[in-house]
This record gives sequence, C-alpha cells and structure tokens, in this order.
Amino acid sequence: AAVFDQLSISLENAWKKLANEDKITSDNIKEPMKEVRRALLEADVSLPVARRFVTNVQSKAIGQEVAKGVKPQQQLIKVVADELKALMGLELAPLVYSRIGPTVILLAGLQGVGKTTAAGKLALYLKKQDKKVLMVATDVYRPAAIDQLVTLGKQVDVPVFEMGTTAKPPEIARKGLAEAKRIKADVVLVDTAGRLQINKDMMNELKEIKKAVKPTEILLVVDAMTGQEAAGLVASFNQEVGITGAILTKLDGDSRGGAALSVKEVSGKPIKFTGEGEAMTALEPFYPERMAQRILG
Ligand code: GDP
Repeated sequence: AAVFDQLSISLENAWKKLANEDKITSDNIKEPMKEVRRALLEADVSLPVARRFVTNVQSKAIGQEVAKGVKPQQQLIKVVADELKALMGLELAPLVYSRIGPTVILLAGLQGVGKTTAAGKLALYLKKQDKKVLMVATDVYRPAAIDQLVTLGKQVDVPVFEMGTTAKPPEIARKGLAEAKRIKADVVLVDTAGRLQINKDMMNELKEIKKAVKPTEILLVVDAMTGQEAAGLVASFNQEVGITGAILTKLDGDSRGGAALSVKEVSGKPIKFTGEGEAMTALEPFYPERMAQRILG
C-alpha cells in the first residue's frame, strides 16, 4: 500500500453518494460530507482540521454555479481538490535565502524522523542549484549521529563541520557559521539533536542555537508516519521555537498521510519539501496541487 491509498478509496465512496443526483443541495451533500470527514480522520488528519475542511467544502459546494453538463460528483471532487490544495498552502513555498552572508537553515525534529538524512538530501539539492553548502553537526549526544552526517557529507561531496561531542551545540553552530563565512559558503545546514519526545531540553537547545546563528529557515522535519500526533507536534515546535516550514519525510512508506494535511493548518507554515526514500536524491519540493491530485487518485 502507498501513502493516501486508503484516503483515495474512501473519498471515491463519498462521491458515489451523489451518483443519482442532478445538483448539490444542502440535503444531499450531508452523506458524502460525512464520508469525507470519516476518510480524513482515518487518514490521521486531526479532528479540528477535518471539521473545518468539511465545513468549507460544504459551504462552497452548495449553491455554486456550475457549468452545464458538470455532474454533482465532478463538481464536489473539484471543490475538494481546491480545498485540499488550499489546506496545504496553495502554491510551492520556496526556500528563503538571506540577502547578506550565508543562509542558515536549521533542521529540527524528533529523533529518528529523518533529520540527518534530510540534511544530506538538502545539501545535494542545494549543490545542484550551484550553492556552496556547509553542514554542521550539533548532535553531541550521539556520536553516531555526527559520523552519520560526515558519511552523508562524503556521499554528496559537501563538507561537514563538527567539533566532536564535548562542545556545546550553540557554540558548534556559531563556529560552523564562522567557518561557512570563511569558506564563502552560500548555505549552512545545521543538523540538531532530536529527542524521542518533545521536552524542555530540546526546545531550549534549539532556542539557543537559534539565538547563536539567527537562521533564515527553521525547518521542522516531520515523519509522515507520525499520525494523529503530528498536529500537536508541529504546533509545539512552532510555538516554542518558531518554524518557517517543514520537511515531510518517509512519504514512500504506507503511512496514512494525515500529517501532510495538518502542518499548514496548525502552524500557518508550509511544507517545503518531501522525502520519499533513503537515497540522497529522494527529496522533492512540495507542490500542494500535485499532492491534492495524488490524494484524489
Ligand atoms: P534523525 O534521527 O532524525 O536524524 O533520523 P535519520 O536521518 O537518522 O533517519 C532515521 C531512519 O529513517 C534512517 O534509517 C533513514 O535511512 C530513514 N529515512 C530517512 N528519511 C527517509 C525517507 O524519506 N524514506 C524512508 N523510507 N526512510 C527514510
């Protein structure tokens, strides 16, 4: 099974409820909308997000002027497609670059979500855009994490700045930025330490790193498998640290995909990239329209 498979199938069932209607009314839209709501919840979209979504679709579909020959089913699919797109931010949200000095991109997120992998992928992506990149390893709690970043750096041929495990993360980030200026790098990717769960130490450390290097982008790496908790997770990182966007990883798995639909709604911040595999090339800019099409099958 692929991500969104179940959601696509469930939505098909919603449209079917309109098969014998010749126009959408406030009455006959109730059943399909119940199906849409259930489909979203089953896909791990959080309840408030699913509720708002259904309310919006409903009010847009009822009484809408429709061109001759357009069946109610098609009409509803179109409204849902537009609303899905809007939910995910309408347009591609490109990376923002700093006008002076290196652009600092901080990668944050829980342990195991694919942060370090995403750093390597992003480094390669930026390199292909002719940017000179430096990666900085600040996860001093797991020596393996530093080794992993160094290995990925070799793989994509991007240098990695590290100070082992004895220095403090904000200091490593600061010195990494200084090194980036010295080698005239365009972008600094700071890989940070995750924890198994949200906790104060992690948030405080991120705040300190933020203060030390004033990032242009703070990208929260979110595992698509996270499920219902994704909304709360995104909201607390955004409240505590202030994110500028997200990278949604592991979309190649068979997650139900709800996280993709909740990030923007709960934080106001867009998904900027998706990761779909372990390979360094498996990173794509996030296009809400394409994702909506994928969901609608
Ligand atoms: P971190 O602890 O957040 O730095 O996570 P890692 O980058 O070490 O990734 C944890 C695991 O997830 C590793 O085994 C990665 O190879 C794997 N991983 C990362 N991104 C993806 C992805 O997009 N798809 C798949 N299938 N695996 C991924």
